[in-house]
Amino acid sequence: MSEPKKLYIKTYGCQMNVYDSERMSETLGGQGYVETKSPEDADMILLNTCHIREKAAEKVYSELGRFKGLKAEKPDLKIGVAGCVAQAEGEEIMRRQPLVDLVVGPQSYHRLPEMEAKTRTGAKALDTDFPEEDKFEKLKNRPKAKRGPTAFLTVQEGCDKFCAFCVVPYTRGAEVSRPADRIIREAQDLVERGVREITLLGQNVNAYHGAGPKGDMTLAGLIWELNKVDGLERIRFTTSHPNDMADDLIEAHGTCNKLMPYLHLPVQSGSDRILKRMNRSHTAESYLRLIERIRAARPDIVMSGDFIVGFPEETEEDFQATLDLVQEVKYGYAYSFKYSTRPGTPAAERPQVDPDAADDRLQRLQALITQHQREIQDAMVGRKVSVLFEKPGRLAGQMVGKSEYLHSVHVSDADVAVGELRDVRITSSGANSLAGELI
Ligand code: SAM
Ligand code: SF4
Repeated sequence: MSEPKKLYIKTYGCQMNVYDSERMSETLGGQGYVETKSPEDADMILLNTCHIREKAAEKVYSELGRFKGLKAEKPDLKIGVAGCVAQAEGEEIMRRQPLVDLVVGPQSYHRLPEMEAKTRTGAKALDTDFPEEDKFEKLKNRPKAKRGPTAFLTVQEGCDKFCAFCVVPYTRGAEVSRPADRIIREAQDLVERGVREITLLGQNVNAYHGAGPKGDMTLAGLIWELNKVDGLERIRFTTSHPNDMADDLIEAHGTCNKLMPYLHLPVQSGSDRILKRMNRSHTAESYLRLIERIRAARPDIVMSGDFIVGFPEETEEDFQATLDLVQEVKYGYAYSFKYSTRPGTPAAERPQVDPDAADDRLQRLQALITQHQREIQDAMVGRKVSVLFEKPGRLAGQMVGKSEYLHSVHVSDADVAVGELRDVRITSSGANSLAGELI
């Protein structure tokens, strides 16, 4: 038997890229590749890139430059760029970095086998189309090997919202939802492989409207169908847009037993003036009322969000409105970013905020978020939570998992296996995790 070829795949950016990397690796598995953790061992190196913030492309070029020596030593080594930088830069990547053999956009990676074969003839392969055919239909069935207890599952891709700062509508294309029966089958397959928690993914996941048996299905409808899958214990979804938070989805948070009490609902800013300029089509007030309704459905829900500070023309007063909103919501988690100019997006042409002022605002926002995060985490002490154990901890006998609220929980001397779901009493709260004991 010939030695399997080795694939080294490095993933940047969001969870959708993590999912795409898994699917690309499985697809190349059909060509005889197995994954390696070391680029030195690889017959193919694939960088699955992210383009959401500035300098992403530059980082990819510098990473590629580091493979020059490897390629010189091993001329048969194939080097590929996938993901959103591949989509945005296309052929330019091969022009600027001739060692690249393959460039594949996020909508074309089902064509990787043919592309890989083409590179083996010494030719270059480029595909950044938004093909008519459905990528997911063309991808091979997923392998049946056992895997860890949590998995991502992409149900929706692309975005039609065109927020003024964002490249996603250009790199990922228009919003498309996968048919419900395919998603349910994929979920069943994942459960057979040992998965107990699935996070449904989409750039705009709550805009999901995939074909179901009785017409288009909403995300809540899909979640209710997944709720029936035996062996699946937990469902999460990300990332949602406030405007697509439909009544049935809010209600599901109160009534669907497998839907976890955690919701990532980015607001970006607390200033209506800035939200309008961002083309977000919600106001701070409408967002706050929405959270009230979600909390009425599920009082213990932990909220998470995204923020951009230093968006063009943001004043200190606008920023204060963001701090006020954060103060009112109290997020259990939140991701905040300094505005990053993306050429080709509407905001790129507008007057920019002084970078020092933006840095200062980012620090102040992050300090407030961290304070709330810690308060919410500390308030878990003494409470009973349910933990899905994912892996052994750093100390002997210790096991680590996630609570329903997505907090990391460590249990010492835990007689539990990976994949077990157990009730735990929280005994203390540390910097980034909780400790507890089995009940
Ligand atoms: N669809 C999600 C939404 O509407 O909130 C977000 C998807 S985006 C991949 C993830 C986050 O990156 C955004 O919520 C935003 O906070 C941040 N982001 C996007 N473009 C950005 C930019 N140009 N500069 C800074 N942060 C940005
Ligand atoms: Fe980008 Fe999200 Fe806005 Fe779509 S809704 S343009 S993905 S920030």
